[in-house]
Amino acid sequence: MQGTQTRYSQLFGKTLRNFPTDETSKNAKFLIKAGFINKRIAGVYEILPLGKRVVSKIENIVREEINAIGGQEVSMSVLQPKELWSETDRWEKLKGAMYQFKDSSGKDVGLGFTHEEPMISMVRERISSYKDLPIYLYQIQSKFRDEPRPRSGLIRGREFLMKDLYSFTTSKEELDKYYEIVAKAYKKAFDRMGLDTVYTEAAGGVFTNENTHEFQVLTDGGEDTIFHCENGDFSENKEIAKVKEGGKCPKDGGKIKESRGVEVGNIFRFGDVMSKKMNFNFKDKDGKDKPIFLGSYGLGITRSMATIVEVHSDDAGIIWPETVAPYKIHLINLGGEKVRKESDSIFDKLCNDQVEVLYDDREESAGVKLADADLIGLPERWVVSEKTLKEDSVEVKKRSEKDIRLEKISSI
Ligand code: ATP
Ligand code: MG
Repeated sequence: MQGTQTRYSQLFGKTLRNFPTDETSKNAKFLIKAGFINKRIAGVYEILPLGKRVVSKIENIVREEINAIGGQEVSMSVLQPKELWSETDRWEKLKGAMYQFKDSSGKDVGLGFTHEEPMISMVRERISSYKDLPIYLYQIQSKFRDEPRPRSGLIRGREFLMKDLYSFTTSKEELDKYYEIVAKAYKKAFDRMGLDTVYTEAAGGVFTNENTHEFQVLTDGGEDTIFHCENGDFSENKEIAKVKEGGKCPKDGGKIKESRGVEVGNIFRFGDVMSKKMNFNFKDKDGKDKPIFLGSYGLGITRSMATIVEVHSDDAGIIWPETVAPYKIHLINLGGEKVRKESDSIFDKLCNDQVEVLYDDREESAGVKLADADLIGLPERWVVSEKTLKEDSVEVKKRSEKDIRLEKISSI
């Protein structure tokens, strides 16, 4: 990550005067206007320095939680040969959704849509015995999907960041056990980044006999519809729902509500289905070849960032939770030379204390600077002005609260 302090005058990716005209989602509008991302083409965005800091923080939260449950980080290739995907017939099945093309030698290749096949192939080459299992591998990497209608900003990209974890175990029981462990880790990771998730039963994908579970964040900006109990102990995606709005929860009789949601994570039990197709076995204690059980666990990094903006914002801009905010403090000087000197020295002090601070040192009007601070949405705004200096103080305001308090400069 970049240093912990930045002068806004030197930052690449300043706020724009207007909202983009070709975006309808709240996340894209705010993230583009505030200078976090840049649109390349529909569903494809570049991440600017401010945005990169948020992405890194989300990644690190996820990394910590996945490392804590035994995950080992790898980096798979994005470019993949057709042969691998033909082993499971998914090359054909994913036509139109996966980017597939011929290289200059005429070979069919595709861009990583997901990574079960390459992961299995890699592990297959290196593991043969029960002694090597279980193993949990994950990566954080760009995925490519030719989404037909990318209208929701970073929620539905054609190129986006995903954390994908794969578990390789010797039995269904072991898989089921780890599946629950991952579910808990996901919940914790989302909690830490300020996302309240509803654990939702959903349809299985290709090659999963069992239902999957999605982590849904309830918001009108979501593309999914879920039916969930008012008491929070039951939730189903509309695609498989056996309940209706106003009906009774099968668990506790509570009322069923219908809500829009964003799926920020999805976990799958492939079991031995793919392993059988790909001849993916281990030698058990009895010397017999048995299929390895596969679990696959996706978590959208950039989609999480977008969802945070959907649920943590107001009319003026974003309200970043402290854990993922690009900086903690937005320091602003309003006034002449004397004020500048004071705020420079407060900035230096914060720098020395390793506080993450963005210092808006531009010669701009108070209106512009305050509006930009609200738009960018750091947890605390610190204003230094003639008025505050009369009290030997800075004015501190939390982005999420209305109250303003004075803090003595000597106590910083
Ligand atoms: P959706 O149903 O929303 O299209 P999916 O079920 O196809 O998503 P998965 O294959 O389950 O997606 O991917 C795992 C995670 O990756 C998702 O839960 C989501 O957080 C993220 N993700 C999937 N597709 C996209 C996308 N197009 N843009 C951004 N993030 C995505
Ligand atoms: Mg999914």
